[in-house]
Amino acid sequence: MAIGNHRNASLVVDRKAIYHNIHEAKKRLKDNTDLFMVLKANGYGFGATEVAKVAKKAGASGFCVAILDEALELRRTGFDDPILVLGISRIQDVPLIVKEHVSVTVSSVEWLKNAESVLQDNHISNKLLVHIGLDTGMGRIGFQTPDELSKAIHFMNAHDNIEFEGIFTHFATADSKDDHYFKVQFHRFQKLMQVVKHRPKYVHVSNSATSLWHAACNGNMIRLGASGYGLNPSGRELTPPYHLDSAISLVSEIVYTKKVKKGRSIGYGATYTADCDQWIGTVPIGYADGYSRSLGGFYVLVNGQRCPIVGRICMDQFMIRLPEDVQPGTKVTLIGQDSNQKITLQDIADYCHTINYEVTCDFSRRLPIHYI
Ligand code: PLP
Repeated sequence: MAIGNHRNASLVVDRKAIYHNIHEAKKRLKDNTDLFMVLKANGYGFGATEVAKVAKKAGASGFCVAILDEALELRRTGFDDPILVLGISRIQDVPLIVKEHVSVTVSSVEWLKNAESVLQDNHISNKLLVHIGLDTGMGRIGFQTPDELSKAIHFMNAHDNIEFEGIFTHFATADSKDDHYFKVQFHRFQKLMQVVKHRPKYVHVSNSATSLWHAACNGNMIRLGASGYGLNPSGRELTPPYHLDSAISLVSEIVYTKKVKKGRSIGYGATYTADCDQWIGTVPIGYADGYSRSLGGFYVLVNGQRCPIVGRICMDQFMIRLPEDVQPGTKVTLIGQDSNQKITLQDIADYCHTINYEVTCDFSRRLPIHYI
């Protein structure tokens, strides 16, 4: 996909804010506890490579990604730090995984056996680095029973080409006021851990929410995603123990204005009809950029004033009602601050009935990112 370097629309990512958020998280950790920054989905839309650089400066000692290709992208851009792939990797990629020194999540004994055969068949002597995933109630991936877990540990201990590097679980409700299910999961985790006689290098359970609101459970590594980017993982439900600095804005410019007469309609489906003569401006961003079609009826900021989005959001453009004529080239703030008005990611997420994570992940690579 082409990056829109020649368009008047961009994301602006504030490195200082990301540094602050990660550094605060790191400061709260006990000594000898590592922070791995979660960089999946192009760093939640903030740009994996740039965030990785900032994260290292702020104290991160490793990274987590969702798929092998995201790990390879980091290797290609020069990062030789530990990288854990959180999803299940393909068996046929085991040689590449070992060559690139990437750690993988394992959820079944069968996967381990198949991977070991691949190592043997390819005469690979370097170790495959394994983090065992435990499903304590997320219901996604991971071992559920002590019996299966001990078989996996036994298998790893019996094979020199496999290193049991880590073990982890993931909480489903750490971002909720109600901690009942969190406790159920933590109890199951502790029971499963009784099977583990020799603890591996990394024992980790904490995403952002767990590190913010259940820090006592942390283990010796945390996997920090959302809060590092300045996103409150609970939306508005819980208040973080330290300030999360908002790190992203989305800005554009008015590219065209016109006065429309009362009775004229705007956009696909002609869903908006002017009830009086009025000024309409066109903004060159659309749902193909990740600015959701469900934001029709929401607003943007122009000259510190809220201007309603009129008609449907198109693929690449949308229209707003202006209080008066403005010059093409006038700044439009879709996310961020303009004078004393502000639109937050959470405002957008609420309007779209989704979570702040989805809003940033949806930004397409067509939107250039300017780092400040
Ligand atoms: N750990 C795992 C297994 C994940 O899937 C994720 C992201 O969803 C994270 C950690 C990071 O979570 P968060 O962004 O809420 O910090």
